[in-house]
Amino acid sequence: MSKPTPDVYEQGKGMDAHNQAMREIRSRKEASYDPHEPTRVWLDEDNTPDGVKTSLTIILNTGGCRWARAGGCTMCGYVAESVDGGSVSHEALMDQIDVCLAHEDENADEPAALIKIYTSGSFLDEREVSAESRRAIADTFADRDRMVVESLPDFVDREKIADFTQHGLDTDVAIGLETATDRVRHDCVNKYFDFADFEDACAEAAAADTDAGSDTKAGIKAYLLMKPPFLTEAEAVDDMISSVERCADVEGCHTVSMNPCNVQRYTMVDDLYFEDGYRPPWLWSVAHVLAETADADAIVVSDPVGHGSDRGPHNCQECDDLVQKAIKDFDLRQDPTVFEQVSCDCELTWETVIERERSFNQPLTR
Ligand code: SF4
Ligand SMILES: [Zn+2]
Repeated sequence: MSKPTPDVYEQGKGMDAHNQAMREIRSRKEASYDPHEPTRVWLDEDNTPDGVKTSLTIILNTGGCRWARAGGCTMCGYVAESVDGGSVSHEALMDQIDVCLAHEDENADEPAALIKIYTSGSFLDEREVSAESRRAIADTFADRDRMVVESLPDFVDREKIADFTQHGLDTDVAIGLETATDRVRHDCVNKYFDFADFEDACAEAAAADTDAGSDTKAGIKAYLLMKPPFLTEAEAVDDMISSVERCADVEGCHTVSMNPCNVQRYTMVDDLYFEDGYRPPWLWSVAHVLAETADADAIVVSDPVGHGSDRGPHNCQECDDLVQKAIKDFDLRQDPTVFEQVSCDCELTWETVIERERSFNQPLTR
């Protein structure tokens, strides 16, 4: 597997300008953090290859994303300055896990079947989460059904996945691929790896799956970003349809989570939005991509965060809640006919945007 690192791209492989701009933008915000508290924790329901399960989602505070410190992705409001020194000790990480367990204990009737751990970086990067912490966390959740951990593709390997599968935990690695199109990932998102690295990570997960035996599964959940900056609505839709299809075709990738971009503070997207240069995607676009890719050989879901607001994916305000509800319905049932039951006058505006918006006149509407 090739080993791209943030440092390589710092030294003149074409992302210097994006990184410089993002460093300046992020530096406008100062934040502090407590290494003994998780960034966030909440309970929810999720569609998995074994059906709908209750889930506990944990955002661990791990010392953060190296790439964000270099400048990082154009849409990501992760605050690079939030961690001094850039690492969190094993003891502090386990304290964070305890806080999450206490939250679950207080708010749920029974332990969640599915545990999802995100880090705003890579859970499988041992500079962020040591092998000791990874194994201790796997032990803690050994009695659950399924784990999802987030990682960039560079750090995915079969032995690390085996730390979880050896307990009989079905294990998914969530990868923020954003798009299957390398040009869009590099130039619009400012993310440094290639689709080939994602394919390599899927091959590692497929190997871990084979090693785990027939009762335990390992696989990849790809996260896609609908409408990074600099793409028109139609380009964003085309990019997502082809990305969903390409991901679904890769062995080892069983779920695609396609998420519309929202405008987070202290990002390049926010600067563009402020200067009338960016509009988050229409919810009609999300529905359209889900309907068009319903036959893909993977579960395809979407979670439009901030739907209906100016800074989130939205239609005309009148129909936002209805379309959002149809999307959530689709997530659980994978039935594209849910979209036939929603309509609104603003569909005509959306169709016009798809037809008429060009790079030089975007965004055509707010
Ligand atoms: S999207 Fe992920 S890789 Fe990119 S800057 Fe944010 S945390 Fe880092
Ligand atoms: Zn509408």
